[in-house]
Amino acid sequence: MTEPQTLLTIGDFARAAGLTAKALRLYDDLGLLPPAEVDPHSGYRRYAPSQLEGARLVATLRLLGMPLARIQRLVDLRPAAAAREVEAYWAQVEADTATRRHIVTTLVHQLRNEARTMTTSTHTLHAAYGASHRQGRRDLQQDAFIATPELFAVADGFGDRDDIAPAALAAFAVGGLTGAVSEIAQGVGAALPDQPSSGTTLTAVALDGATARITHIGDARVWLVRDGELQQVTHDHTVVAGLLEAGQLTVDEARSHPHRNLLNRALTPGVVADESVVDLRRDDRLVLTTDGVHSFVDDLAPLLTMAAAPQAVADAVAVAVGEAGEPDNHTVVVVDLGFIT
Ligand code: MN
Repeated sequence: MTEPQTLLTIGDFARAAGLTAKALRLYDDLGLLPPAEVDPHSGYRRYAPSQLEGARLVATLRLLGMPLARIQRLVDLRPAAAAREVEAYWAQVEADTATRRHIVTTLVHQLRNEARTMTTSTHTLHAAYGASHRQGRRDLQQDAFIATPELFAVADGFGDRDDIAPAALAAFAVGGLTGAVSEIAQGVGAALPDQPSSGTTLTAVALDGATARITHIGDARVWLVRDGELQQVTHDHTVVAGLLEAGQLTVDEARSHPHRNLLNRALTPGVVADESVVDLRRDDRLVLTTDGVHSFVDDLAPLLTMAAAPQAVADAVAVAVGEAGEPDNHTVVVVDLGFIT
């Protein structure tokens, strides 16, 4: 029997495991990690230090998207059997992905054929814009942005250099994605591995007639404000974002997960960007934010939907990030659209 005094409160245990108490309660409710002891009167959960490894294992398996029943079986296995089980699970994930890739190819082909029959608008856009670009409490400013009447883009550099994001944006403006990738490949050096230690994200909106063409790699975001409603147009290329959208992680788990910032796409040779098109309407507002903004301001909607000039909106966002402690570089670009008829 474990002595009661060696048990940790849920708060202390959560801190030691690098998780939140809420995530641990979820794991208990799901039957994945029952506490060593539950006080029959107060209902307080207490954990044994020997459960730390199990808690971290559950968090990692959740990140793989493993179904609950399978995690439940796996946590009771010895390490060698657990290793085989993880391998077997992953082999099936990869096989499923390959099958789905074939289906995707067919579907995209069909949809493209349909798209060809549709007409495009000939309206010309007028864009009014404002921006804020601040260093926050970081030693380097690794965010960069450009704003021209036809092109708005942000880039968030990582690693120990501050020249990568601006170089990528300048090259993108001239040579598109191919230009940006080759610029980065040269600038960062020949030894650019799949997971570079220095690099950048890139999220761009090019205006063309009445459409916005979006090119997106990484965890910056494009937002659309239409009729007073805020929608997120891009999907974050992080491991946790995909799982959140699939309902396989809760918001709280994602927020506290040790790997929450793990990018799974950056500007590297061979990268496939998300390309999308938004058909614009009069009075639409497009907003670009780097993660230094949307990771620290919980609800951007009241700010981004504000009836104010673009620069006033950008300034208000910067103030909100400042109030949240601005741990990261933060950049916001606000573009209000009108049409010249
Ligand atoms: Mn950032």
